[in-house]
Amino acid sequence: PVVTRFAPSPTGYLHIGNARTGMFSWLYARHHGGRALLRIEDTDKARSTKEAIDVIFDGLSWLGLDWDGEPVFQSTRVDRHAAVVDELIARGNAYRCYMTSEELAAARAAAEAERRPFRLNSPWRDADPATAPADQPFVVRIKAEREGETAIEDLVQGRVTVANVELDDMVLLRSDGTPTYMLAVVVDDHDMGVTHVIRGDDHLNNAFRQLSIIRAMGWPEPTYAHIPLIHGGDGGKLSKRHGALGVDAYRDELGILPEALFNYLLRLGWGHGDDEIISRDQAIAWFDLDGVGKSPARFDSKKLENLNGHYIRAADDSRLAALVAPRLGFDPTPEQHDLLRRSMAVLKPRAANILELSDGAAFLFRTRPLPLDADAAALLEGDARTLLARLHAALDAVGAWDTEALETAVREVAEAAGVKLGAVAQPLRAALVGRRTSPGIFDVLVLLGRDESLARIADQMA
Ligand code: GLU
Repeated sequence: PVVTRFAPSPTGYLHIGNARTGMFSWLYARHHGGRALLRIEDTDKARSTKEAIDVIFDGLSWLGLDWDGEPVFQSTRVDRHAAVVDELIARGNAYRCYMTSEELAAARAAAEAERRPFRLNSPWRDADPATAPADQPFVVRIKAEREGETAIEDLVQGRVTVANVELDDMVLLRSDGTPTYMLAVVVDDHDMGVTHVIRGDDHLNNAFRQLSIIRAMGWPEPTYAHIPLIHGGDGGKLSKRHGALGVDAYRDELGILPEALFNYLLRLGWGHGDDEIISRDQAIAWFDLDGVGKSPARFDSKKLENLNGHYIRAADDSRLAALVAPRLGFDPTPEQHDLLRRSMAVLKPRAANILELSDGAAFLFRTRPLPLDADAAALLEGDARTLLARLHAALDAVGAWDTEALETAVREVAEAAGVKLGAVAQPLRAALVGRRTSPGIFDVLVLLGRDESLARIADQMA
């Protein structure tokens, strides 16, 4: 059975590249009917605050990624990590290294002077442990293979090899007794029964080093899949400028819906024919690693916005209203909330994100007299205010306040004045909305209702 894990380090935000790796781990497990595990790599005490960890949980649950079992906190496992180090020493696969920082620096300087790459060659690698100095600080290093090569059959990268001379005797346990990432990740993956390590390809080099620990312990080797990182639209490393924001920023600052970000990140570097719109269920049914490309995917904010617009149009009006309400700047009454919900049908075809939706809804709740922006003010110059007076009279006489009746009334005013419908509709819009753009003017009239519409027109008419 497939067991995957997502192993983020709390950094204060859930980078979307990381979130995508987490999605791929999750999807792979779900597709294969396996288990998707979560491990928080919280060994950096200073960064691993409760807030930083909650940001990860928050982002994942918002994206709809659920995990099997309880999350594992790496920091709780240091005793186990140290026990594995003891075992590696006992097996002769690791050693205590007492080299001082001066000795290390001297060895490095010598290599540099001779213009050869630095290879650590610790005198403690093969020393008799009985000669070890008492009370002197040490680190524990792996006894890395020096001959031959190590190969990985990566499900995304293909076969990748490295000459073993490239792998040095890396540190497993620091002099303060804390385990290194290299050790902790291997021990935890093993103990969690992870069969598939799916992560960013910035970890590909680490995989060779991690394999040396796995082999020394005689543990089963996981299958690796190293996913290319996301690049900016210009091909460079994805930076803040390119949209390398945390998942919460997509939600809070950009007003993106979770299903849009899920669909977008899924399509970034993974494909299923020409399908652009892919639901969560389809993703689970279709996802596999052979669809993941080897080259870095380029981030395209326009595409994300288009997908978001699609999912906004598809979203339920009550849900959208609940997302917009906290952005209005005041607490809507139940009646106002209801109005907001009713307005979604006409506002959502024009909105690419929740911010635009809330901006589009703002006019409904403005208090009179409405502030006019410059465009709207310009529309009310000349004869416009006289036209508004005629409109007021015509609309006041309308029976049922519905789109049909309203349209008939407004058209009659335009005809009587000998102008096109637009020449009447534009000043009317300016008076009702305070802007030159809005949903269809008859929809606006219906949403505002008779009293509010007539009052707003009266405020502006001559
Ligand atoms: N905690 C590591 C990171 O966030 C991931 C380690 C791994 O996936 O092996 O980069």
